[in-house]
Amino acid sequence: MQKFFTKSAFNQAVECPMRAYYYRNGKDYAYHYEGPDGIAEIGDQFGALACIYEGVPDENIIRRGGANPVEAQAKSIDDTLELLRKENVDIGEAAFSTDKYLVYVDILHKRGDELTIIEVKSKCISASKPLYRFDKKGKCSSDYLDKILDVTFQKYVIQQFIKTHSEFANLKVHAKLMMVNSEAVCDVDSLSTLLRIKFLEGGHREIECAPDIRKILKGKTRIDRIIDVDEISDKIIADEIPNIAEMFNGCFVDYVEKVADMYINNRKDYSLCHIGTDCFKCPFRKEADDDKLDGHIECFQNMCGVNIAGKSAITNVKDASKGLPTSLKKGAWLEQKKFFLTDIDEHEYVPAENATPEAFQKRTELSNNDLRYLHVHSVKTGSSEPTFLKEAAKAEMSKWTYPLHFIDFETYQGAVPLFRGNRPNEEIAYQFSHHIAYEDGTFKHAGEYISLEAGKFPNFEFVRKLKSQLDDDEGTIFRYDIHENNILNAIRIQLIDSNETDKEELIRFIECITHPTGSCKVPFEPGVRDMKDLKEIAQKYFYHPSMGSSNSIKQVMPAILHSDPFFHEKYGDDMDPYHNLPYLEEFAAGVNKDEFPADFDDSDVWNADKQINRGGISKLDYVLLQAGRFNKLHTEAIRKASRRYCELDTLSMVRIWEYFRISTK
Ligand code: SF4
Repeated sequence: MQKFFTKSAFNQAVECPMRAYYYRNGKDYAYHYEGPDGIAEIGDQFGALACIYEGVPDENIIRRGGANPVEAQAKSIDDTLELLRKENVDIGEAAFSTDKYLVYVDILHKRGDELTIIEVKSKCISASKPLYRFDKKGKCSSDYLDKILDVTFQKYVIQQFIKTHSEFANLKVHAKLMMVNSEAVCDVDSLSTLLRIKFLEGGHREIECAPDIRKILKGKTRIDRIIDVDEISDKIIADEIPNIAEMFNGCFVDYVEKVADMYINNRKDYSLCHIGTDCFKCPFRKEADDDKLDGHIECFQNMCGVNIAGKSAITNVKDASKGLPTSLKKGAWLEQKKFFLTDIDEHEYVPAENATPEAFQKRTELSNNDLRYLHVHSVKTGSSEPTFLKEAAKAEMSKWTYPLHFIDFETYQGAVPLFRGNRPNEEIAYQFSHHIAYEDGTFKHAGEYISLEAGKFPNFEFVRKLKSQLDDDEGTIFRYDIHENNILNAIRIQLIDSNETDKEELIRFIECITHPTGSCKVPFEPGVRDMKDLKEIAQKYFYHPSMGSSNSIKQVMPAILHSDPFFHEKYGDDMDPYHNLPYLEEFAAGVNKDEFPADFDDSDVWNADKQINRGGISKLDYVLLQAGRFNKLHTEAIRKASRRYCELDTLSMVRIWEYFRISTK
């Protein structure tokens, strides 16, 4: 099968040409995706909705896939040519190819000689936010540059196609982007369920729209925003925007042609890229148990002559932490050929005289520089000793009021609203878990809430239940990270806009246990019982070398358990709440798999290998549940598994409190 340079390959190549090579050879090279799952499926739903909004008839939506990919690809191209011969036509998934390129255009309108291509992205943008800006020097800045470049590439390919097809020589191409309007209010019941996700053979998917969807959506509010990008795409192709031209080594067309050649001929060409700050985010690296090749390691070997396999390369330090300041120094380190943590002088962060255990114990908290020092120092010395600021932690704990409450939320956010009255990306809170701990050291799982019912907007009931569980005392409430505060802020705004009879009471409760987020539209004073962030607390007073630069609960909790024999003595093998988690299938006693819909590929949602510690219920599971895609027994098993998972998150928080408690005695 001829290999074409596609949109996906281009999007990889924009980041780095070698990424396009590794992407092409994905069978051999590991790819480590860190984002939430379900994004692609929800994107498909918005894509199907876009076709309906833009009046593309079902028969003009060119279907991809099929048993024979070569034939399917050729058929898509032929079908597009056939439709293009009409004077006026609207097409979904139109396929254009040249000798090198192949692009599938989400939506295409042809009116005489004018072609308008619309790239559909399920990313939110407000109704008034500019897509891009130019400064006085002609430099362009945009939060959506990747999307602009994506449609620019398609425009370029179609222009090349026109050059080689004389019958279409008069066509002019215009480019637009369709995104999700974050301010649109959905006035359709269960919109998502009208766009049914179907799993096909070979890992393919398609969206099956409800038969009467066009009738249902007629006259209803659209949730999209279409933005003209014709002018900026022309400027990009003509290299008229200095900072964007620089991204393509001065010439967009040359760059695309060169990378396409490398891609089509499956040639590694390291001369097109360099080791730099982008390598910190490179997804072509493997996890410990992956037997695929590691592109990231190969790049270092071939471009810098160093073998980073199994070593503490600085590019493996995660950005999302307060640990090592990758954003501060990473470019400079690479330039100075400091590739490993062991190449870094930890005393840049903390001078030697201030880095003794005694000096640490005099601190009131661990600063970011302290964490950087501890991280580098432990790698260099192989130390596995924890650092715990006993007196400072004691002072912090003296401010806590017992009983302590530990809460954790499970939530959903998607571009296509699930419920009438919701905006795109509106927060949906469908589950919480709650543990209580007492001054005498005892604790219990005090409560929970879970709502998986299809069509039921859960947020207000969620807050009522939370209030009923937290309102009996004045105990300190803990969350892990900012998520719970953000969600309650979002529900507060939903309540303000609602007609709930008890909304004043619920709003007062939220305002009491939260503080306003930076983007809060209706400000309020931080609450007298504002939740405390256990993540922040753990980071201020505790560091263990096994945490590296991460302070996620999945790193902090095991580090804490191994820092004191107390846990092993008290709990034995049960000390790690996540350790003996059952596999999802074990919750399925009584579930008859024959009752699943015949087309339903449950391989990821429901198989013997899926242990629920991979993240509880996923975004995709929740959408499928809302779409009524699981039978009752299946839903019940997912409910049980989700409960267990969420409960373990708050139990992990209790373990951190236990450590603080015993270590400050
Ligand atoms: S490691 Fe760096 S150079 Fe290699 S593919 Fe990734 S981003 Fe490109």
